Amino acid sequence: TQHLLGRIAAQPALGAFLQVDADGATAAAQAADARRAAGDAEPLLGVPIAHKDIFVTQSLPTTAGSKMLAGYQSPFDATVVARLASAGAISLGKLNCDEFAMGSGNENSAFGAAHNPWDVARVPGGSSGGSAAAVAARLLPAATGTDTGGSIRQPASFTGTTGIKPTYGVCSRYGMIAFASSLDQAGPIARSAEDCALLLSAMSGFDERDATSAQRPPQDFHAQMLSAREGASAAKPLAGLRIGLPKEFFPAGLASDVDAAVRRALAELEALGATLVDVSLPRTELSIPVYYIIAPAEASSNLSRFDGVKFGHRAAQYADLLDMYKKSRAEGFGPEVKRRIMIGTYVLSHGYYDAYYLQAQKLRRMIADDFQACFTQCDLIAGPVAPSVAWKIGEQGNDPLQAYLADIFTLPASLAGLPGMSVPAGFGAHGMPVGLQLIGNYFAEGQLLHAAHALQ
Ligand code: GLN
Repeated sequence: TQHLLGRIAAQPALGAFLQVDADGATAAAQAADARRAAGDAEPLLGVPIAHKDIFVTQSLPTTAGSKMLAGYQSPFDATVVARLASAGAISLGKLNCDEFAMGSGNENSAFGAAHNPWDVARVPGGSSGGSAAAVAARLLPAATGTDTGGSIRQPASFTGTTGIKPTYGVCSRYGMIAFASSLDQAGPIARSAEDCALLLSAMSGFDERDATSAQRPPQDFHAQMLSAREGASAAKPLAGLRIGLPKEFFPAGLASDVDAAVRRALAELEALGATLVDVSLPRTELSIPVYYIIAPAEASSNLSRFDGVKFGHRAAQYADLLDMYKKSRAEGFGPEVKRRIMIGTYVLSHGYYDAYYLQAQKLRRMIADDFQACFTQCDLIAGPVAPSVAWKIGEQGNDPLQAYLADIFTLPASLAGLPGMSVPAGFGAHGMPVGLQLIGNYFAEGQLLHAAHALQ
C-alpha cells in the first residue's frame, strides 16, 4: 500500500485518480495486518485496489466524473465497495471515468482526460479509463469498473489489462450511480484472469437492495476457473471447448493490426485444444442504434433526479423553481450527458416511443436470441473487443458518432446481458495493446475465466 501510494503520487499526469485516500488506506492496511496476524487468510486481505468514481463511498466524495456531483458525499458504501472492503482489500481512492460512464475514451470526464500509459498522447479507453490506466501503469494490481456497453472490456483492451463484465445481475448495482439500469454491471479490471476471478468472487453475490440482483448462492469464480480444467491435459487445457467466431465480428473494415492480433490469439486457443467454429450474429450492426436508443432513454430517466433540489449542483442565482432546474442542469452536466438526455427524452416521448424505443426493445430481444442460437453450436464466442487500437486524445474532435461506432463489438453482449471479457492479445499499430473478447452464455463466468487463464 505504501509503495503504491508513492507510485500514484509520482504519476499525477496520468489522470488516473480523482482522489487518493492515503490516510484511510494506511489505516486499512494496518487493520489488514492485524487480521493476517490473527490467522485470516482471505485472498484479498491487504491487496490495494481503487474504485471507479461511479461507486459511492463513505470515506471519500463521489463525482461520477461530473461537475453535477462535485463534492457529493454519500452516507453509505456501494455494495461492491463494502464487499471488497470486508474481504480485506484496501481502497487507495477513486478513479477517473467518463461523466456518468458515458463515453469510450475517458475524454468526457469533467475533471480532465486520463491517459494511456503505453502512449500518454492516447486515450486509455472508457468509460472505466482511470481504472484501466492505473492497472496498466502498475499503480494498482486491480480496480473496479462498470460496463454498460463495453466500459470494462474496451479500456482493458486499450491498455493490455484483463477485465470481465459478468452476467447482468451478478454484481449488485446498489450504490453504483445509474446510467442505464437494464445494462449497467460492475466488474474488475486486473492484470490477469486469475486476479479477476478473485476480485469477482468477493464483489459479486445476491443483494436484496438491488431488485435485479441474481438470486444465487455465493460463487467461487477462482475455483470454477480451475475446475473447468479438470479432465483436460496440461498441454491441451481447452480440449473439447468450441469457440464460435461470428463472421460479423470480422468485417472488411476491421483494422488489419487488430485482425492479425486477434487471429494470433485464436490460433493459440486452438493450440491449447479449442475448436474454432464459424457462427453468425446477424444483428451485430443493429446493436449500435438499439443501444444508443435504450441507454439514453434509461439515462434520461435516471438523471432526472439531478435537479439541484435533493441531488447535485445548484445554480447560485435563479428567478424561480423552473429557472433553478434549468440553470443547475445547464451548469452541472457536460455536453455528452446533455446530448443523451435529449436523445433519451425524444425517443420516450409520445408519438416517437413506438417508432424508436419499442422497436429497439424488440430488436434487443432478437439480439439476445441470436446469441442463444450461436450457443447451440459453440461454448464461447470470440472476436475483437474494439475495431482499432486506442486513438489519440482529441482525435475524434466533436464527432460523437465515431465513438459510438467503435462500440460495435461490445454492445451485443451488453444488450443480451451476457458475460464478456477482454484478454490481452498482443500489440497492434503504434505498439498499442489489442484485446481478444470472449463472450459466454449466462453465468458461464467460470468457463470464460478458464479460457482466458489458459491463454495467459
Ligand atoms: N461507450 C459506451 C457509451 O458511451 C459504453 C459506456 C459504458 O459501458 N459505460 O455509452
